[in-house]
Amino acid sequence: MNYNVNEKGYYGEFGGAYIPEMLYPNVEELRQQYLTITSEESFQKEFQQLLRDYVGRPTPLYFAKRFSEKYNTNVYLKREDLCHTGAHKVNNTIGQILLAKRLGKNRIIAETGAGQHGVATATVCALMGLECIVYMGEIDIQRQAPNVARMKMLGATVVPATSGSKTLKDATNEAIRDWINNPVDTHYIIGSVVGPHPYPDMVARFQSIISEETQKQLLEKEGRENPDYVVACVGGGSNAAGIYYHYLNQPEVGIIAVEAAGKGIDTGESAATSALGKMGIIHGSKTLLMQTPDGQITEPYSISAGLDYPGVGPMHANLFTSGRGEFISITDADAMKAGLELCELEGIIPAIESSHALAIFNQRKFKKDDIVVVNLSGRGDKDLNTYISYFNL
Ligand SMILES: *Cc1c(COP(=O)(O)O)cnc(C)c1O
Repeated sequence: MNYNVNEKGYYGEFGGAYIPEMLYPNVEELRQQYLTITSEESFQKEFQQLLRDYVGRPTPLYFAKRFSEKYNTNVYLKREDLCHTGAHKVNNTIGQILLAKRLGKNRIIAETGAGQHGVATATVCALMGLECIVYMGEIDIQRQAPNVARMKMLGATVVPATSGSKTLKDATNEAIRDWINNPVDTHYIIGSVVGPHPYPDMVARFQSIISEETQKQLLEKEGRENPDYVVACVGGGSNAAGIYYHYLNQPEVGIIAVEAAGKGIDTGESAATSALGKMGIIHGSKTLLMQTPDGQITEPYSISAGLDYPGVGPMHANLFTSGRGEFISITDADAMKAGLELCELEGIIPAIESSHALAIFNQRKFKKDDIVVVNLSGRGDKDLNTYISYFNL
């Protein structure tokens, strides 16, 4: 079994490029070019240099001693929270903007839900001096005012999506419409391992620096490249794809994916796609998707904005159905508790997304000798108001 994308753009039965005909030239240009361009020496040199000097890589692999003692196992945290802009998303936007430049594109568009991907995109556009337009649902603009302000400070134009539920899916529709109308000068930066082929594979490759570093760092610290488990939260699945990437075809490394159960899987307010999803098409990709019996996409819910997505990337749908990945869902309440626990035990305030991954230690036992690497996808500064109101701080 191969867990990477095949030459047709599929992970098992998931993936592909289900797009309107008018989008075909844009996506096809990208498909034909992405591997050639990203494997050029000059591309790799510039990418690695920016990851080091601008993003601050390699991020530390930190042995969480007090957390490990509490759960009687060995827990390492891969510190993506220490990346510039506070999360892993910038690894991907740096890669895509370098690709866009080489494709001769000078106008960048993106969609954003909570605003994190919008900020990561606006950041690299400022870095490269390119025009940046971010589509965002009107309701999300109201809910996520600090990130809207950040994008504006970084020089981006934030365009409200006013149709439908005025949230992420509507912003995505607007971005696709823009790309169809501007096929020559515009590149669309997608923020996770979702969308039509080649996006899931391209984004996974940019994020794979996470497991590449982990292998080297673990070899140094433990004398072996492979942990017993790698763990990550899954919204669309890009930070997870990054920490899994170099372990996908190493069967001795267990892969654990953590989804948001929201208020509980059976409450109708969750984002636990593997538990609740069925095969469907979202954002141009065939994958597992939360939907009504007649195929309408269900509005997801999670306390963490980054996990509040009704699908998962096709890589993860395949990891689930093939049994290669173990999927666990974590409620809002358990995630919040785990987030506060990391603060108290290790002096690290995690993003609420990452807190979901930390919460599995209360649900699942590991052996005393196991080495478990948890991808700490982001820092909690952006979530301070949620922590404050949840715990009455
Ligand atoms: C956006 C985000 C996520 C979820 O996105 P993935 O593509 O699933 O990684 C997770 N953690 C943080 C901190 C985020 O900002």
